[in-house]
Amino acid sequence: MLISFSIWQIQGEPKLRGKELRTRMENTNKRICLSTPTMHEEELGYIQEAFEKNWIAPLGFNCDGLENEIADYVKGDDDWHTLALASGTAALHLAVKLAGIGQGDKVLCSDMTFSATVNPIVYEGGIPVFVDSEYDTWNMDPVALEKAFEQHPDAKAVMLVHLYGTPAKVDEIRALCDRHGVALIEDAAESLSATYRGRKCGTLGDYGVISFNGNKIITTSGGGMLLTKEKSLRDKALFWATQARENAPWYEHKEIGYNYRMSNVVAGIGRGQLKHLEEHRDRKEQVYRRYEQAFADLPVTMNPYLADSRPNFWLSCLTVNRDCAVDPLAIIRRLGEANIEARPIWKPMHMQPVFATCAFVTAGGPAVNEDVFARGLCLPSDIKMTEAEQGRVIDIVRSFFE
Ligand SMILES: *Cc1c(COP(=O)(O)O)cnc(C)c1O
Repeated sequence: MLISFSIWQIQGEPKLRGKELRTRMENTNKRICLSTPTMHEEELGYIQEAFEKNWIAPLGFNCDGLENEIADYVKGDDDWHTLALASGTAALHLAVKLAGIGQGDKVLCSDMTFSATVNPIVYEGGIPVFVDSEYDTWNMDPVALEKAFEQHPDAKAVMLVHLYGTPAKVDEIRALCDRHGVALIEDAAESLSATYRGRKCGTLGDYGVISFNGNKIITTSGGGMLLTKEKSLRDKALFWATQARENAPWYEHKEIGYNYRMSNVVAGIGRGQLKHLEEHRDRKEQVYRRYEQAFADLPVTMNPYLADSRPNFWLSCLTVNRDCAVDPLAIIRRLGEANIEARPIWKPMHMQPVFATCAFVTAGGPAVNEDVFARGLCLPSDIKMTEAEQGRVIDIVRSFFE
């Protein structure tokens, strides 16, 4: 059984009813999307069990199960303690709190990412300093990070993203964090199952964050997970995530808390999905390889990765080469007219009006991220896309270069 819907396309459109809705749903099914949930049979089994045991309240066997299964999945040389939460953003927020980020504390942060990476820094009164990317992975440039440490020696932490499921240059970044004695928070929201030098994304820093949002490689419809190295840190995050209730017969509070726990029902979806994670990854790679092959003779470059890393290929992207006049926005528009969803590269944070006052550090030359943003686009990477459907995408892209 495959259930599919797009979470991005229906936004802002009027509510439809009855026949109109059915027609719309049929069209929806024909639409080729960037990345939508792919469901299997097992998810319903876990949900059913939650219903049968009337274990609908947050917390319960599916939350415990998902935490244990993810801990097993990411386990390498070290054990990791996992905490199931309502979203990746909630997990990032608790990671920022665990790292001790408070009022006025600077965090050196990936610049080309989704805003959810940055917002939790600001929730805690921290100040993001954006760090430019390199061309090898489109992730934080260690050379720019070193500059950022020189310019902001008082920085308290580094927030690192693996964009589109492609691992960053982690060893160089880790070495800089160690040299400056700051924590590394790893936003692995897009990169579950990707590995860097044999180690899984989410376990490469001091704190790891995974997202199970509907568009990610596996989903709980909405949810996230925090990974910590010590049980005491996991316990502290659990305390904050459950309204900061002190141990007392009555509700006793010494700190501000949050309601951030994952529900036992949606955790069941995650357990079923996890059984298909490697299969999802392989199908994502297949999508990427088909594009790579189909565009081999065009003046375009697929999103790059390091030889010793294994991306999860969550999104396939390309940049139009510098000497070529084709405008990515024109490609996106034409695909849109054919009911195919494509998107610009995530707009860099230093270009966002809301972060206009934040510092931005490059390695020295012009901003890599502005260049990638100007020349790039995200291609449909849905693993339910048939070869024929991907062929339609490929034909339209190719038509711009003929
Ligand atoms: C999706 C995403 C998040 C947020 O995760 P949610 O579960 O949607 O809150 C954070 N960072 C990145 C890079 C993401 O892609």
